[in-house]
Amino acid sequence: MHNLVSRVMDARLVALFDAWLKAIEGKDRVDSPLTSFQDFADHLLIIDPLDERHRYSHYGSAFTKAFGADLTGQIIDLVPTDILPADRRGILDFEYTFARHAKRPLWRSHTAVFEQGQAQTWQRLVLPLGEDRLAVGAYPVQAFHQDRPEEKLLRLVIDRMPVVLDDRRKIQDLALSIGDYCDSQQQVAELEVLASSDSLTGVANLRHFLHLAGLELDHAQRMERAFSLLALDIDHFKRINDTQGHAIGDSALKAFVQACRTALREYDILGRLGGEEFGVALPNTGAEGALVIAQRLRQHVQDIRLTLPNGDDLQFTVSVGVAVFLPDDEPMVGGISALMEKADQAMYRSKNEGRNRVTLAG
Ligand code: GH3
Ligand code: MG
Ligand code: MG
Repeated sequence: MHNLVSRVMDARLVALFDAWLKAIEGKDRVDSPLTSFQDFADHLLIIDPLDERHRYSHYGSAFTKAFGADLTGQIIDLVPTDILPADRRGILDFEYTFARHAKRPLWRSHTAVFEQGQAQTWQRLVLPLGEDRLAVGAYPVQAFHQDRPEEKLLRLVIDRMPVVLDDRRKIQDLALSIGDYCDSQQQVAELEVLASSDSLTGVANLRHFLHLAGLELDHAQRMERAFSLLALDIDHFKRINDTQGHAIGDSALKAFVQACRTALREYDILGRLGGEEFGVALPNTGAEGALVIAQRLRQHVQDIRLTLPNGDDLQFTVSVGVAVFLPDDEPMVGGISALMEKADQAMYRSKNEGRNRVTLAG
């Protein structure tokens, strides 16, 4: 098991590891990591502590290329969801804290879905540089050979599971026992889901939606990117309840959420704001894109056929309002609530003008 690391660690990370050994030998800290690791600069992150958090003081150009944003100077827990979904931030936090305290390098492989829906495997090496500073090298690598059982096993272990290395690049330990890792991840995930989602439809509840959408708006303002919000209100929903009963009303809400999901992209955020009112946050999306998505969503809802106990089909529609934050706009006074208010007003115009339509806020 131990020398498996040497067999599967990417050669560029092997070289980085050796450069780290040389740089840190006999010292408490590496003073100028970019000089020591200059051959790796494009694929290197330097992370410095800032209060309780971590900040990128160097962000290699390979990451900018892969994720479309230069995060130099950014705090890691503010990284936007299209770059790193919330469920993956926890493991990064763990890795960085562990590498600092244990003062040992960690190595991990992980498979992520990048643009165009293609899965790519990257290997990461986290290196402690002293005084809570870290360097991370990361490279996309060939997928492991499926026909080599030992590599498959290793991949099972290290995919998302950080491995502690000794000075000869061999596995010294797993950073967590598999049991701890699975249990704690699962429990934390379950609690988070309970606290943040709507129990009927499973989408984000109002508080959680405003929190996530607020983070995205902050990010859009800092990074000068567009951001859009949709306000959705199902048309004549009271009639469904009155004529079909509350249980069918509930089924209609679930079918509505399903229809919305198929119209949205993976990183769009859907939330239930209350009753039959929903919100959608669209990161990196200007008016044109938001209108396309809103129309697609409206159409998907119109296409719903909910089969009733008597065999009839139930149909319904939705009215949508769109509010947009553009990179050149002044910072939004009133933040996400103000933008939501604009989207709501546009939604009411859709209602007044006959429902089942999309209106862009002026
Ligand atoms: P409009 O087109 O103007 O939006 O008309 P509407 O009937 O949709 O609007 P109104 O706000 O008058 O009614 C909303 C209804 O949604 C009233 C309430 O009974 C129903 N509702 C709210 N939450 C739930 C729920 O969780 N389940 C069910 N079945 N109905 C709900
Ligand atoms: Mg309503
Ligand atoms: Mg309504």
